[in-house]
Amino acid sequence: MSFVEDIDQFLVGRASFPAVNYFLNRKNILGRYRKLLASEWYSKEALRELQFQKLLATLRHVYVWNPFYAKRFKEIGLVPDDIKSLEDLRHIPPLSRKDVINHRLEMVDVRYRDSALAADRAPQHPGLPVLFGRFRRHKLVRNTSTGSTGTPTVFYDDGSTTALNWAHELRLKRWFGLPPGVREARMTGVSTLYPAKSLRRTIRKMYWNQMILPGIFMSDDDYEFSLQSIRKFRPRVLWGCTLALTGLARYMQRVNKNIAPCTPELVISWAAPLYEHEKNLLTEVFDCPVTNLYGSREVGHIAILCPHGSMHVNQENYIVELEGMGAGGGKTSPGNILVTQLNASPMPFLRYRIGDLAEFTEEACSCGRSLSVLKRVLGRIGDVFKTKDGRMIEPGFWCHAFMVGRQSQDVEKFQVVYQPDDKILFRVIRKASYSAQTEADLRSLMETHFQSDIKFDFEYVHDIKPQPSGKCPIVVNEIEQKEELVLMLQSR
Ligand SMILES: [Zn+2]
Repeated sequence: MSFVEDIDQFLVGRASFPAVNYFLNRKNILGRYRKLLASEWYSKEALRELQFQKLLATLRHVYVWNPFYAKRFKEIGLVPDDIKSLEDLRHIPPLSRKDVINHRLEMVDVRYRDSALAADRAPQHPGLPVLFGRFRRHKLVRNTSTGSTGTPTVFYDDGSTTALNWAHELRLKRWFGLPPGVREARMTGVSTLYPAKSLRRTIRKMYWNQMILPGIFMSDDDYEFSLQSIRKFRPRVLWGCTLALTGLARYMQRVNKNIAPCTPELVISWAAPLYEHEKNLLTEVFDCPVTNLYGSREVGHIAILCPHGSMHVNQENYIVELEGMGAGGGKTSPGNILVTQLNASPMPFLRYRIGDLAEFTEEACSCGRSLSVLKRVLGRIGDVFKTKDGRMIEPGFWCHAFMVGRQSQDVEKFQVVYQPDDKILFRVIRKASYSAQTEADLRSLMETHFQSDIKFDFEYVHDIKPQPSGKCPIVVNEIEQKEELVLMLQSR
């Protein structure tokens, strides 16, 4: 890196990035970042104490200002000071997506009610700040998240959650030796809405060192455009939805191109789990470490993958509980994630059931940080297959079988479909080397893992089309095990 780039990186990281964000009401990003770099070395006990103090402050706050929670607490006869430990949090009922859809305005701090209504009326695309003058007064941004169920969840942010996301991203990059202000290409835009010229994009590139590229509904032309732009901009970080990054990597392999003269130092995948074969692919094509951000639009970046391979919870700002983990389940069996935000937000999510299954580990990470570790995020509840003897088979298992194991050399792409009557269908795009023996080997592999009452079918296809949302899921669940599994976990 040249001296000029060095200075530019410093100025962007220390001055223009925080300053522009301050203007957008995303305050104190660097202050939050520095605090995180200190607290990540706290002891487990000190971290829990910090969480408890923040939790108590949050509960006292919502009890006064957020009608939804005040009503809930009164219904169960609870006042914030009844919560004497982190464990007492379980007395508060979990928050479902349905609660958020039905009670969104009651969940907002009463002092922000007018701002929420103004944000609802604003003509802008969701996620964009309400026109600048009004935005400064109202300080709320309306945003939506499309769940797996299809009904969008509307929520509001005054900039505080976004500021925290930036701070957590800066922490993640620091873990890989990268300071604030490094050049970054972000594959996040919708390709069909990607304008040839955009003032927002120019400003972001100039003042944040961030190049925004298309990342959703990608065609080969979009991949080629992204590749050329990356080569020219030479970012040190590639950031994007898992599907966009793996799509770009596969495109580059297909057309036999590399990313030189760009030499990325970190790939950050977001918005979907990063399966073993995908991580291998990205590492091979971009020739640098690959990490993953776990979270959701509503609550922000919950956990980040460290260089030693542990998914650390951003424990200073989130409490993650696993529902159904308690009695009998042991501390290390999978449960339904409940997440509690600890930062002051006008619309806080407490014990929010985001719809993913995960498992904790008690083992300490070799990086030395005591932030708690998610051993694995199994995936969306509907993507996890429940066997009759109560085991949970996660999408990662299928990926390992088809894309990492010995048979992977014969498989181009696959999809698993859970069907009624204990049937599982494998849709497979074959490579030339795929033979009857490959199928026989895959069948016998499945038989060693499943009871004989599950019937496996293979369907050979030429293409696996993405869904209307642009996602191309590994698992399609046609039996809606989802509700059943939620009930099972709650009753355990
Ligand atoms: Zn670690």
